[in-house]
Amino acid sequence: MKFSTKVSRITNIAKLTKFTKVSFVASLLATAPCNAAGSSAETTAKQNATESSTYTWPDKHKAAVVLTYDDTLHSQLDYAVPQLNQHQLVGTFYLSGARGDLDLRMHEWRAAAILGHELGNHTLYHPCRKSLPNRDWVQPFLDLDQYTIAQYSEELKTTNTLLQAIDGYTQRTFAYTCGDTTVKNGSVVDAIKPLVTAARDVIAGTNDANNINFYKIKSFDGANKSAQQLIDMVAQAQQNNHLVVLLFHGVGGDYLDVDAAAHQQLVQYLADNRKDYWVTTLRDAVQYIKTNPVD
Ligand SMILES: [Zn+2]
Repeated sequence: MKFSTKVSRITNIAKLTKFTKVSFVASLLATAPCNAAGSSAETTAKQNATESSTYTWPDKHKAAVVLTYDDTLHSQLDYAVPQLNQHQLVGTFYLSGARGDLDLRMHEWRAAAILGHELGNHTLYHPCRKSLPNRDWVQPFLDLDQYTIAQYSEELKTTNTLLQAIDGYTQRTFAYTCGDTTVKNGSVVDAIKPLVTAARDVIAGTNDANNINFYKIKSFDGANKSAQQLIDMVAQAQQNNHLVVLLFHGVGGDYLDVDAAAHQQLVQYLADNRKDYWVTTLRDAVQYIKTNPVD
């Protein structure tokens, strides 16, 4: 969908939404990173050379690129969103409902959604498994090891409702908090399928649209990467027609951050090469693949 068309559509949605300020449960979380223990997404792009495949993206783009940003961080509104907007590019921002940053800057997140950015589901309370290494920061009442699958599902449903109140959308994608996919009584992967259209994982790699697991979408971690490293990550997808997803936390601040200038150079590269790269939201990329399943 063209950017202008999308803006028009979302603007219409926004007009239907009554923008009353809502006071949500806030500040229950200490600021805690999505994948503080580190993840396999630390693997560099070059370590993850993938086999070639063919897939036809819209307008004959050679690859689909989805930039994702976790944890509802100020630096994302301060740097990432403006940099993307400057070039009329969009990304997916995974918000946790209970983060105080959402309450403080809700109108800015709504404005981002109106411009086409996806507000993705990142749970309400950002629970993580406390039993894993380097998870001392996980509050006992936010310990996924103590969650049940039903509890996890209810939290996702409530977050969907919260985000719908902000952006008007009834469909969105999800990102596993800390990359964790299990709770006390098993895996949550099947349970979330009726609630979100896809889920981003922290396993490193690009995604072959012809053989994709929508609830284990692979990604590369952009934290502390140089501009060239970030560009290399997306460039490999151009060679094999894949979907490549980058995972960011802070941009020019906060934590697990990438330098704002490096992020800017990546965005500039994508804008300069927009005939080759379909830069979109995960919601729209997944929607396209589901409606165009086989090349
Ligand atoms: Zn997170």
